[in-house]
Amino acid sequence: MKITGLETYSLSAPLPQPVRTSTIAISQVSEVIVKLATDEGHVGLGEAHGPFLFQGAEGLRAVKKILDSITPLVVGRDPFETERIWQDLFALTYTSVRGIPPLARQQRVLVTAMSAIDIALWDLKGKAIGRPVHALLGGALRERVPAYVTGFYYRDGEKPDDVVREAASYVELGYRTLKVKVGGLTPEDDAARVGRIRRAVGKDVALMLDANQGWNLPTAIEAAKRCEAHDIFWLEDPMPWFDERRTLARLKEETSIPIAAGETEYTPFGLRTMVTEGLVDYLIIDSTWAGGLTTWRKAAVLAELYQIPMAAHHDPQIHVHAVAASPTGFILESFADASRDPLWFELFRERPQIVDGFMAVPDQPGLGLELRQETLEKYGVKLG
Ligand SMILES: [Mg+2]
Repeated sequence: MKITGLETYSLSAPLPQPVRTSTIAISQVSEVIVKLATDEGHVGLGEAHGPFLFQGAEGLRAVKKILDSITPLVVGRDPFETERIWQDLFALTYTSVRGIPPLARQQRVLVTAMSAIDIALWDLKGKAIGRPVHALLGGALRERVPAYVTGFYYRDGEKPDDVVREAASYVELGYRTLKVKVGGLTPEDDAARVGRIRRAVGKDVALMLDANQGWNLPTAIEAAKRCEAHDIFWLEDPMPWFDERRTLARLKEETSIPIAAGETEYTPFGLRTMVTEGLVDYLIIDSTWAGGLTTWRKAAVLAELYQIPMAAHHDPQIHVHAVAASPTGFILESFADASRDPLWFELFRERPQIVDGFMAVPDQPGLGLELRQETLEKYGVKLG
C-alpha cells in the first residue's frame, strides 16, 4: 500500500462567549485535518490542534505551509513505515532531509503538522487490516476509559452562583471528575471559588485544578496551600514550561497536592525529563501537538517503567485508543458543552459518547471516526 495524496482542511469555529484561562482568552477553536489517500482506496484521518491554533487563520496558515513543504516525505511511502516517516519528519527540526531544508525555527509548527500526519498513518494502518488503532498499540487493556470534564473557565461578569450551577450540570451528566481553572484570580479568591465548587459537589466528586502556567513559584506555593483543604486530585501546569525542572521540584517539596504536567511538551524528550526526574505524579500528553500517537507510544513505555499514570489533553476521540492500550493509561479530557468546543460536537458523524464519566473503547477499524462534510464546509477556512 502506498500513500498517493495528502489533503489538508483548516477549520476554525468561533465560541458564542469567549472564555479565559489564567493566561489566554479563547474566542475560537481551530483545527487542522489531514487526509491521506492510498492506492488501495483507504483514507487515513489525522487531526492537529496546536496551542497557537487559537490564533485562527494565522496559526492555520503556518501549519498548512509546513504541511505543503513536508508532503514529499509522506506521499509515495507505505503507511506501515510509521516510525521511519516520524524519524524523517522529526529530523527536520534540526537538519535537512532528502533535499527539504531544516525547519529549525519552526519546530513547534512542524511537530504539530507531523502530529496530524502520524495520527492519519495509524488510522490508515487500522483501516488496512480492519482493526481499531488500539489493537495496533498492543491491544486495549480496559473496555472503557474514564473521562473528566474541563470547565469553570473565567467568564466576564461571573457571579458566585455560576460555578455552583456549572458544577451541578456536570454531575447531572454523570461526570465524577471535574477540572477547574485557577491562576486567574488572587490565590485567596481562587481558593474561595474552588471551595464553592467543592461544597456544591460534595465529597465524592474529584476536583482537579489547572493553572495553565499562570503562577510564579511563590504564588503557586501559596495557592496550593490555600487549596489543599478542598481535597484536590491534581494540580496541573502551575508554572511556565521553561523552568519546570526547577520549579516543579520545588513546588512538590511544599505541597501535598499531586502534580500533573506535560501538555506543554512537544517532544518525547521533554516528556522523558518530566518522568525520569520525578517532576510529575500524572503525565499529560497531547498527541495532536506532540508528534502523534508515535510520541504517545514512546512515552507510554517510559510511564509504565516509572509507574506514572498517563492522562490525555483534549481530543478524547483519538486518545481513547492510546489510553486504553497503555499499561498506565488513566484518563481522558473532555468538554461537556458545544459552547467550549463546537468542533468536538459537530465534526464527526457518530461522536463517541461519554456515559457516566467513561468512554467506551471503539471497535471500528482505525480511529473509528467519520467526518461530517457539512462541518468541514461550515467551519472551513480558505487560506488563499
Ligand atoms: Mg491544561
